Amino acid sequence: MEILLKNCSYILTQDNDRSILKNQDILIKDGKIQDIGQNLSNSGYVIDCKNKLAMPGLVNTHNHLAMTLFKGYGDDMPLDKWLSEKIWPAEEKLDADAVYNGTMLAFAEMIKTGTTTFNDMYFFCEKVVDAAITAGMRGFASYSMIDLNNPEKRISEIKAAESFISYLKSKDTQLVKTMVAPHAPYTCSRELLEESKKLAQKYDLKIHIHVAETMKEVNDTIKEKNMRPVEYLDHIGLLSPEVIMAHSCHLSKEEISLAAKRGVKVSHNPTSNMKLATGGTLSLPVYLDAGISIGLGTDGSASNNSLDMFTEIKVCALLHKFSNNSPEVASAQQVFDMATRGGAKVLGLDKEIGSIEAGKQADIVLVNLKDISMIPNHNPVSNIVYSANGSCVDTTIVNGRILMENRILKTIDEEKVTDKVNEFASTLV
Ligand SMILES: [Zn+2]
Repeated sequence: MEILLKNCSYILTQDNDRSILKNQDILIKDGKIQDIGQNLSNSGYVIDCKNKLAMPGLVNTHNHLAMTLFKGYGDDMPLDKWLSEKIWPAEEKLDADAVYNGTMLAFAEMIKTGTTTFNDMYFFCEKVVDAAITAGMRGFASYSMIDLNNPEKRISEIKAAESFISYLKSKDTQLVKTMVAPHAPYTCSRELLEESKKLAQKYDLKIHIHVAETMKEVNDTIKEKNMRPVEYLDHIGLLSPEVIMAHSCHLSKEEISLAAKRGVKVSHNPTSNMKLATGGTLSLPVYLDAGISIGLGTDGSASNNSLDMFTEIKVCALLHKFSNNSPEVASAQQVFDMATRGGAKVLGLDKEIGSIEAGKQADIVLVNLKDISMIPNHNPVSNIVYSANGSCVDTTIVNGRILMENRILKTIDEEKVTDKVNEFASTLV
């Protein structure tokens, strides 16, 4: 199918030169951006983009999508108490249907706020794949493995991960992929981490893992292994350019150099870190100077509690300016990069998405320039980062398919999903 985005007032291409085009068309054909220019003709569907800004779809690099079910269920508690008293007992009640509906709610929120790519690690992943295919989202659904040093559990976790990989293969989808996802170095045995590496090599997959989220994790690792978490992961040979470390809040200078040397990617989750008070977060200028690729993530809805990447972008910029006592740190362009082309690079999708250029997949978001937050328009990148929010998004396109137009979802029955989620929520009380 052909789609012509006619006369876009602005196009934030996010190409290598960060070109901003005015009054140009984008022609989409067979899921790809075919051409960008003036007065392009087409034989398909036309969207009038006067007073619209086109930008690459936002890339969310760390999710537990179905945790939308627990949004607002437990807040303002210490992390260990929050997990043991609220989240883990609630997760006991999850079944495949609940995960499907919670994931659909997440996709509805993401599409409505301009996110086109996710990176999930959770349970009942078959349902995450089914939901993603129905919703038309691009991303990674991964089975989160935890063995807590139990050898039997280790075997069953690897088995479950492999069986999920074959399920995904049977689905014949180009948009949904998977990674190997050992939960964290403190919840997985050394053997499980080593098995994870083998599994990733066997199926040519990336590894998605939480690392150094809290100071407690760092101190416990030092006590148990006489090494810090990243040193430990390197010691067992896990670190490589195929590894995405979520959080990575507490890395020593040596660990930052090590991560850069190994080509490890980082998913930065500023809102979640602040809400859970993880004892600080990563130092953005130091990591960027070291040459580490960083994307932005919201983490799960229970610790955010929003999946709106516009908010995440703003929080990221403000947090690093404030903590460095410098307004020059985390510029609007830098954080916008992290949410688009940077996130694409972290996920290994930079050849396909992350910018609006001919030949790339058509993951494009149209922002309403008549929204008050976008007026006046001295600098569209500044408005996107500091002023806009997800409700400014008018249209969301993934792989050349329109998932939302004029704020109406095309692939998700919003009322049905919200009813199902409310039904599940009532069982938690
Ligand atoms: Zn997480």
